[in-house]
This record gives sequence, structure tokens and C-alpha cells, in this order.
Amino acid sequence: MLFLVFFYTILHSLNVSFAQYNIGLIDEVDYDVRSAFDIASQSKLLIPHKEALFSTDPYRALQIACSLLDSKVIGILVTSNRENTDPVQSICDLKEIPMLEVRWNDRLSRGGTSINIYPHPPSLSKAYVDIIKFWKWDEFTILYEDNEGLSRMSEILKMGHIYNIMVKQLIAEEGSNYRASLKEVWKSDHINFVLDCRIDNLETILEQAQQIGLITKTYSFIITNLDFHTIDLEPFKYSEAKITGVRMLNPESEKLIRFAEDVAEKKHETYRSNQQEAENVLAVDKLRLETALVADAVTFFGSAALEIDNSTTFYQPNAFCSNSYTWKMGMTIYNYMKTLTVDGLTGTIKLDNEGFRSDFNLDLIELAEEGVFTVATWNMTDGIQKKLSPIDKVINGEYSLQNRSFIVITTLTYPYGMLKESQESLKGNDRFEGFAIDLIRELGKLEGFNYTFIIREDKANGVKDEHGKWSGMIGDLITEKADLAITDLTITSEREEAVDFTSPFMNLGISILYRKPSKAPPNFFSFAAPFAIEVWLTLAGAYFIVSISLFVMGRLCPSEWTNPYPCIDSPEFLINQFSLRNSFWFAIGSLLQQGTEIAPIAYATRMVAGIWWFFTLIMVSSYTANLAAFLATENPDIPFNNVYELNERAARLGIKFGAKKNGATLNFFRDATSKEFQQIYHYMHSNEDDVMMKENSDGVDRAERELYAFFMESSSIEYEVQRRCNLTQIGGLLDEKGYGIAMRKNSIYRHALSTAVLKLQETGKIQDLKRKWWEERRGGGQCMGDGDREDAKPLNLKNVGGVFWVTVGGTLAAVVLVFLEMILHVMKVSIQHKVSFVQLLKEEMKFYMQFKGLVKPVTTRKGSKSPEESEKTNEHERIEQPTYGFLPAITKGSPID
Ligand code: GLU
Repeated sequence: MLFLVFFYTILHSLNVSFAQYNIGLIDEVDYDVRSAFDIASQSKLLIPHKEALFSTDPYRALQIACSLLDSKVIGILVTSNRENTDPVQSICDLKEIPMLEVRWNDRLSRGGTSINIYPHPPSLSKAYVDIIKFWKWDEFTILYEDNEGLSRMSEILKMGHIYNIMVKQLIAEEGSNYRASLKEVWKSDHINFVLDCRIDNLETILEQAQQIGLITKTYSFIITNLDFHTIDLEPFKYSEAKITGVRMLNPESEKLIRFAEDVAEKKHETYRSNQQEAENVLAVDKLRLETALVADAVTFFGSAALEIDNSTTFYQPNAFCSNSYTWKMGMTIYNYMKTLTVDGLTGTIKLDNEGFRSDFNLDLIELAEEGVFTVATWNMTDGIQKKLSPIDKVINGEYSLQNRSFIVITTLTYPYGMLKESQESLKGNDRFEGFAIDLIRELGKLEGFNYTFIIREDKANGVKDEHGKWSGMIGDLITEKADLAITDLTITSEREEAVDFTSPFMNLGISILYRKPSKAPPNFFSFAAPFAIEVWLTLAGAYFIVSISLFVMGRLCPSEWTNPYPCIDSPEFLINQFSLRNSFWFAIGSLLQQGTEIAPIAYATRMVAGIWWFFTLIMVSSYTANLAAFLATENPDIPFNNVYELNERAARLGIKFGAKKNGATLNFFRDATSKEFQQIYHYMHSNEDDVMMKENSDGVDRAERELYAFFMESSSIEYEVQRRCNLTQIGGLLDEKGYGIAMRKNSIYRHALSTAVLKLQETGKIQDLKRKWWEERRGGGQCMGDGDREDAKPLNLKNVGGVFWVTVGGTLAAVVLVFLEMILHVMKVSIQHKVSFVQLLKEEMKFYMQFKGLVKPVTTRKGSKSPEESEKTNEHERIEQPTYGFLPAITKGSPID
């Protein structure tokens, strides 16, 4: 006896009731529901009694309820429809047997002893309203299937005064063809939809919506069904439509995962369902809300019953349909449930005063290419709370790099990673040096993380094979051999799909590494090289114009007519030195800096001469300087100037070309669309064994030895040409890209590392490191200056145009001076000799314009002939009657001489 008392006390203290009670289920024989019911009942020491009700038959429902009461159940769980549930509820209310519901029920007042742990309809409606507000929709269409669906939208419909709402019922034709209804919707200009339908039809409706073009980038959907996540979403993942839904179940919860496994096992054991079905439930994300709610309802009810049983004397039910008793404990359990809080599979279960579950949590989920992910959470008090993404968390400082340890993989590629040259034996990270090693050290210092370097011996950065598997360092990140990868690792779109990169720490592009071209033999006309052809032509033109100007101005300027016999005060004739021949001679003499004995006298001719001398000074100096530059530069004999010429001439010149095997450079040619680049790729691909190099240094060696052009990234070319002076970069960059630090996809450290890289860039640290490893260490700067010398270029009109314009300006000014001088002279003579100015001017002009002879009679002298008489006189006659008894030889010639 004493033993029995002791045993009972122990059981009591363990919250285990000695007596066992029955619990009933009325369902449509759903194996998931039944398994969940069994599992939860047994965990609460309840004995499950299950009754099936396949069709809508209230009378039968009543009979089943009565038979369960006869079995002395302390509660009945009903998963059947409302028509079947109502009679069960009335008999349970009458007998005060708690009835449990797990389905949507919009009857807002509850009497008797029934509870429903499905979210309370007004609360759920409020959640939908909050989601619409969260997405900031101002117009949308409600697509609903039946009246129950429309009543779910009641709260949303109340917002009709704020939003432009359209309501459309989805009517299935020929079974499950919703296309006609969907097409009507598609024709409207609405792009946002709230879709309410049964879970069994959801997939079909979405498929048909996709067929008629409603599931595209333009459209957004909110799916109200809480089982949305259980359908096959694969076909809609890539649609770019914004599809959001809500769920109560958290597929990451361990409790839920275990429960799904238990259900699968139970179903398999008890109901001998085939393995396939069992596996379906094993996937926690395919677990329906109803299954979890059944378990939660039983757990919730069972917990209350156990508590009551433990705290007070518990009676077995004695209220049957055949008698008029009520079960007193029923109301006690019901009231107790309203005060109870249980942590269930669907979150915290607690009821309000009326027995509704109005406080619950929901996840707002969105469909993306990667699958379903939670964007926000909802509850009655706080409404929608945006879920922080890993990036947001980094920004909020939740993911700090402080004190983390990373395995950093790198390759021994100059100058990114190299083995330290040291007499002592070095260990760990100390064994390595180089740009990448220093960069990680700087990042570590900045962000406070630790690191250990490991080396990828084959120097493979990583390529994707035909099965989508990644090799090299990218593969090492995916297989978690390393956390970070750094070397000359190019950021490519293909790699970005597999891993994440920080912001680029170096920018570069593909170019050609080739031998420095040899000196070309000098050109026969190399003396002409300093000036471009147009300069030579303009120079010749200027020479011609200036010579002619001198000739014309010489004639027009009175001062250029000089006394041939300075010892005679009043000569009969004046002579002019600027014959055509002399003018050209004077100009060429000045141009070649030799001078002539001809010296201009008049202002105008002196001005032209001065300007011409200035012109020649500048031109000769420019020519001399540029000639010196031409002589100093080696005229390289370049076999090709760019990638296109290489592609065109390579075969003819016997030049081979290649790139690093399995590198980003080769992939650039593979993916390029241009015809030439495709030809290059095919050449490299089909001669892979000959022209493709395992690593960059092999390509560099070969470029030095043979007629071999190596496609390489510009930063690496820059490094090599500083050390191997017989190599150079040919042509510009074929593309633009960068090197980044790689890490596993969706890494939470990406933002912090990228920010740190940018900081190092902004403070000039990365530039310092580049200078150190490119120009200073390991033979850097040896060939500095070699490649910097610019090729001498012929001067063109742009270079010397100014001086031509100065000459033109000077000549025009001289023309003005000529006329000024002539007018002043004529004016002076006319006043002196009291002759008509106009007539004298006419006579002078006439003489000048004849361009005959270089001897001019001094016509206005006293005692000489009047101008009228003089006009009548033949000039030759005058010459043939010399005043002084002889004639200077020059008077014989024509001005052209
Ligand atoms: N940086 C290249 C890569 O990440 C390797 C060198 C190259 O292909 O030129 O694959």
C-alpha cells in the first residue's frame, strides 16, 4: 500500500496522470492529421479515438459525436467542414465537452466550450491589410474563389476608400480552367493582386496565370493561403514576379523538423502508406499548417487537462447523448485553457477571453531565385517588422570581423604571393610575402581579424567544368577548404554566381605582352620627318606669298625707290631693289638663315621682312628641335600595333599567341562576341598544348625567347615590363575588370571586407602597396623610363599654326603701311611742287601697276617735265637719254628679272 502511495506521488510530481483519458477526432481520414493527432495525444497520455466523416452529413456528424461521448472522450477535435462541425459543437456545448477546431471559422462569437487555435479571422485580415500597406500598394485586385475567401478579405475591403480595389471571383470552367477569369484580370490595368484560394488549386491558378502572362516582372501577388510554401514553386522562381505569402510554420525550427519526421514515421508505421508519401512529409517545408495545428490543439488541450488533473479531482466524463448530464470538468478545462500559454509548433498558443487565437506570429515570405525567404515578421502588437538581411546586420554592427579567424587561400603568383627569401627557417604566415599577403595583413589590422594562409600549389584560380563543378581556389571556397581567396583573382560574372567578391582592390584589363620591337632602318627622307606634309606645303605657300608681297610692296613703297647715285642730290631716276628674283632670293636667304645683301628700306617691306624672319626663326627652331627628337628616338619596327593586327598578321609573320590555361583571360575570348576575338579563341583552343601556358611566368619566359605574344592582364604586364626590359605591352586594354577577394556565397562578412578594402583605397594604402611590390621590391624599376619615352611625332599645323597666322597678320599690316606711305609721299610731293594730289597719285599708281622696269623717273623735279608731259614720254626714251652720260646696268631689265 505504502509502495502504491509512493508510486502515485512520484507520477504526480512528474506531471503524469495516473488515469488515462480519451480524446476524439472527427476527420476526413487525412493520414497526416491522424498521425499528428496520435503523436500529440500520446505525448499527453491521452488515448486517441478517431472517427471518419467523408461527406457533408450533419446527422452522421451528430451520431459520430455521440459515439465518441459514449467512449468517454474528454474532448473532441473536428477538422471537418462547417456544416458537419456545427452539430458536433452544439452537442459538445450541451454536454460541456470541450470541442477543438483548427480551421478557418469566421463565426465571431463563441459559446459553450469550444476553442479554435486557427488564427482569428479579424487578426489575419489585419495582417493582410498591413502587408498591403507594407508594399505600398494603392491599387489592387482581390482574386477569390469562394465566399469564405471573400469573408477573409473583409478588413481589406473596408479600405476601399483609400485604395483602388477591384474584386474578381475566379471561376473554374471545365473542372479547373481559370484562364477566362484570369484573362479578364490581365486586361485590366491593375498590376497587384491578393489571391485567396484553396491550397489544392493554388498551383493550377498560378500556372495558368503564368501562361496568360500574369506572372512576370510587372506583377505582384500576395497569396493569403497559409500553406503557400508547400506547393511546388520551382516554375515561378525565375519569373521575376513579386510573389509574397505568409506562413506560421518556421521550417528552420528543430521542433518542427522532428515533428515532420515523426509524422512521416507514424504514417508509414500505422497507416502503411508507401515510402514516397512518408518522404513527402519528411520535408518540413511541405508540412501543412493543419497538421501542425492538430498537434498543437491536442497539446494545448492535453496540457490544460493534465494541469487540472494534477491540481484537482478529475472525473471521467459521464455525459452521453442518451442522458441529460453535463460534464463538469469540461468548463473547468475550457476556462483554464483561456489562461494557458503553450509553446507549440505554430508558435506561442494563447487564447483571448472569447477563446480565439487572436495573438500569433506570421512570417512574410517572398519567392526568389534561391527559393522562399522571410522578408518580415508580423504580430498583432507590432505589425510588420522588416527582417534584417545579413547586410543590414553588418551595417548594424551585428556581424563584426573582430577576433574572427579566416583560412585565406592564395597562390605563389608574382607579386601577389611569394615565398620569403630568408636564411632562417620561417613558419606560418611569415613564410610568405607579396601584395596579397600585405593586403590581408592591412585588412586584418583594420578589422581586427586573424588569418592563416594556405597555398594552392597548382596556381589554379578556378573554372567551372561542364558539370557545373568549380576547380581551383573558387572550388576550395565552395568546399569550405578556405574562407577567403586572394591572388590575381579576376571578378567575373560566372564566378560571381558561385562565390561573393569584395569591391575590386585593383583595376586592370587584358593586353598583349611581346618582345620590344627592334630599331627600324632610317628612312631615306627622314630629314623631312620633323614636319608633317601639310606643314611643308603651308611653308612653301608662305614662302611664295611673302616673296610676292615683298615684290609688290617694294614697288608700291616710295621709299624703296632710291637714288642710284648717292653723290648726286637730285637724280633723274630712282631704282628699286625688289625685283621678283631678288624678292624670292631675299625670302629664301632668310628662311635658310643665310641672309642676303638686300636690305628693305620702307616701313612696309621692313615689316614684312621682320615678320618673315620671326616666322623663320620659329620654324627653324621647331624643325631643329623636332629633328633632334627624331634622331634620338629609335624608330621601332613593330610587327603589330594591336590585337586585330596580331590576329591578321600572326600567321604570315610566324608569331604564335596564347594566354594562361583556365584563366579569366581565356574565358574573355571564349565569351566575346566579336569575330576577331572568336578567331583568337579558336586558335588558342585548338593549339592548346602548344600555346596555352600553365602559369603566367611560363608565358612571360616564352614571350622573351620566341616570337610569341602572351595575352595577360595589364597589372601583371606592368610588373613584368619593369623587370624584363626586352618586353613591352603592345596595344591598349581589351576590357576593364578588377581583382577582388572571394568568399563563399552570401557571406555575412562581404560588406565589412568591401568597406575595409575601400577604406584602404581611400587612404592610399593600396597604392603604396602596389608601388612597393611593383616598383621597389624584387628588381622593380629596372626598366623604368625605357618604355616611358614618347615616340617623336612630326609637327603638324596644330603645333605651328600660330606662327603662320602671325605672318599673315604682319603681311596684311604691311599692306596697310604701303598705302599709307605712298599716300603720304604723294601728298608731300604734291604740296612741295604744287601739283594736283589726285593726278600725281594716278600717275604714280599707273607706273607701279605697269610692273615695268625698276627705274623710275623723278617726274616732279623743278625744271623737269610736267606730269602730263612726262606721261606722254615713252619710258624707254627717257632711259635712253641718261642725264649723267651713263646708265646703270640695272635699268635694262624688266621687273621680272
Ligand atoms: N586573373 C586570371 C584569373 O583570375 C588569371 C590570369 C589570366 O587569365 O590572365 O583567372
